[in-house]
Amino acid sequence: TQILSPGTHFDEKILAAAHNNYLAALNRNGKAYGLAVIDLTTGDFKTTEIGTAAALQTEIERLKPAEIVHPAEDSHLKESLTNTRAIINDHEDWVFAKDSAEYTLRDHFGVRSLDGFGLKNRPSAIGAAGGALHYLVNTLRRDVTHLNRLVFYQDSEFLTLDTTTLCNLEILEPLTRDAPNTACLYNAINHTVTPMGARRLRDWLTQPLSDACAIRSRQQAVETWVEDGPRLEQLRECLRQVRDLERTLIRLSVGTGNARDLLNLRLAIEQFPNLCSLIDEALHGTSKLELNDASDWPLLSLLADQIKELPKLVALIARAIVDQPPLALREGGMIRGGFSDELDELRAGTKEGKEWIAKLQEKEIQNTGIPSLKVRFNNVFGYFIEVTKTHLGKVPVHYVRKQTVANAERYITDELKKMENKVLGAEERSTKLEYELYLQVRESVLEHLREIQQSADALAQLDVLAGFAETARLHGYCRPRVGNEGVLNIREGRHPVLEQTLLDERFVPNHTDLGGENQVALITGPNMAGKSTYIRQVALIALLAHTGSFVSAAEARVDVLDRIFTRIGARDNLARGQSTFMVEVSETANILHHANERSLVILDEIGRGTSTFDGLSLAWSIVENLHQQLGAKTLFATHYHELTELAERLPRVFNLNVAVREWNDQVVFLRQVVDGAADQSYGIQVARLAGVPAPVLERAKEILSNLEETDLTAAGGKKGGAQPRAER
Ligand code: ADP
Ligand code: MG
Repeated sequence: TQILSPGTHFDEKILAAAHNNYLAALNRNGKAYGLAVIDLTTGDFKTTEIGTAAALQTEIERLKPAEIVHPAEDSHLKESLTNTRAIINDHEDWVFAKDSAEYTLRDHFGVRSLDGFGLKNRPSAIGAAGGALHYLVNTLRRDVTHLNRLVFYQDSEFLTLDTTTLCNLEILEPLTRDAPNTACLYNAINHTVTPMGARRLRDWLTQPLSDACAIRSRQQAVETWVEDGPRLEQLRECLRQVRDLERTLIRLSVGTGNARDLLNLRLAIEQFPNLCSLIDEALHGTSKLELNDASDWPLLSLLADQIKELPKLVALIARAIVDQPPLALREGGMIRGGFSDELDELRAGTKEGKEWIAKLQEKEIQNTGIPSLKVRFNNVFGYFIEVTKTHLGKVPVHYVRKQTVANAERYITDELKKMENKVLGAEERSTKLEYELYLQVRESVLEHLREIQQSADALAQLDVLAGFAETARLHGYCRPRVGNEGVLNIREGRHPVLEQTLLDERFVPNHTDLGGENQVALITGPNMAGKSTYIRQVALIALLAHTGSFVSAAEARVDVLDRIFTRIGARDNLARGQSTFMVEVSETANILHHANERSLVILDEIGRGTSTFDGLSLAWSIVENLHQQLGAKTLFATHYHELTELAERLPRVFNLNVAVREWNDQVVFLRQVVDGAADQSYGIQVARLAGVPAPVLERAKEILSNLEETDLTAAGGKKGGAQPRAER
């Protein structure tokens, strides 16, 4: 008996191939929060320790578990789980306590110490991982033998992206529901060919690296394939055959698999030698086998080493399983002839018997002279001879009557009964034997469970790297230089999603230079000019660079960041019961608490949710704070013209604007980001583009010119009487 639950089911119809389905467990020991997640369908088992409730929340939102368990007595933990769709269950407290959790884990992995998992002095992580395992085994009664890896990871290994940033930058899905599904980074760059690769890509995009060496070694792998298109195509073709090796394997391991899974497993493993030799050729084929400081061995050769060729297993499955096995396990037809003598004999017996029965009808028609005589079969009576009522007189005496039906009588004979026993008995025994043979083959597969899982892990990475290479070739991406000097320079950068979805305009590339004296860029320009696009594009390029991918630019230098923050647009979060302004300031507060000189901050129109002067004052002091205290590289798109004055007051603040031309009282958008502040905001011209009626526009112009006579002073103070509200 096992208990199915949202976080642990195997239902193909509900599982999405490109998504992990996680069960999560939480724990708290002292100050640190422990989080562990298990995906039973892939064998993933990870745990981490997190410092704050907010960061825990972010990580939960990133992983999107379907089910969460927590220690029953810790009500505080439960309260911190407000924004998740997961089913939440509590579980006995003692299970999460360090000693019992450690015992659970040591027992499961058969080790004496957990230090090898990186869990030394990690009581919260141990508690969560042990708790998760205990819940699976004891409450849900699940088989967990295939969970033979446990990975401890930490925020600091990765570029931190808070939930707001993941949403705002539209990494995995578009911000608005009505946007096409493709309008997100994941879809724009996803060229993986296996579900394993797709899941890994989602992981890499939401957890980019924060170590230059690790990033460079991925880049080097991508470059190897970018330079060799034909070989890349071969590689991706091989990977396609591998399909979802992880889930196939796990289905076999937990006993829900069938002969088709064995077949698919063989087709996958058959590709291993090809894949390894493609990697080998690629590594030696490229002229510059550059061994940089990333590692002495290129990532690709490490991955090739991780792929374990299993020729004997392939041969076994090939000999055992037919090319088109049925879904059912207990109806026969799975095992190939020649694999088992016993099975072959049983099948021969069945065949002989069936042939004899097939001939019987002809023979009996001759013997009895009844032309309509039939030999038939049904599940209740087995084989019988049927004679219609008109011919009853001719029925021989040795026929034994079995059943009367409307128009006929049914008979058996001794001979037929004997043959029937032979056929049916043999058939039953042979399907049973087939099932046993299937189990034997499966057992041999499971002896290699670990090796195959390891190989699958390498293939998932290989698929993402090959996908990056494909994207780079298709869309002309470049390899960014990654270092630690703290600069962010982009030549001819493009927005990776918009450049693919833009229909009636060509995407105009733009440059970016941040770092050193260029710390805070204030971007002004009329509505619709392209400010928001530009600042998002910079963030997306920076993020992509941290995943090891090439980037949508002609040339880029992206030094390692620790976090990317975004605060974009005035957006209501009614679901959380907060007003626009409240959301806006609390997100901004988060940035001000956590940003530092290694962060990238993207601010779009902050201060919009309140009155002009409130908003302007807040925006003003936020820029000052970012400039003086935090030192974060910042791109700030704003409609507050007054802010551009800051460039003259603060040394590392500078102005950019998105150029427009005025022509016949119309605006023409050039989409070009240039130095300096915008001269005016063209609000009325943009309103014309949007179809506001002419009389309204004329009146607006009149009001505007009245207002302009009572301008604001540069310092943010008020010169005249009326308050300018033109740009609200
Ligand atoms: P703003 O924030 O200045 O109001 P957006 O960034 O929202 O403007 O851009 C408005 C529209 O302009 C975008 O939806 C896009 O269609 C177009 N656009 C923006 N930047 C570019 C560009 N570099 N090349 C081509 N079209 C662009
Ligand atoms: Mg905008």
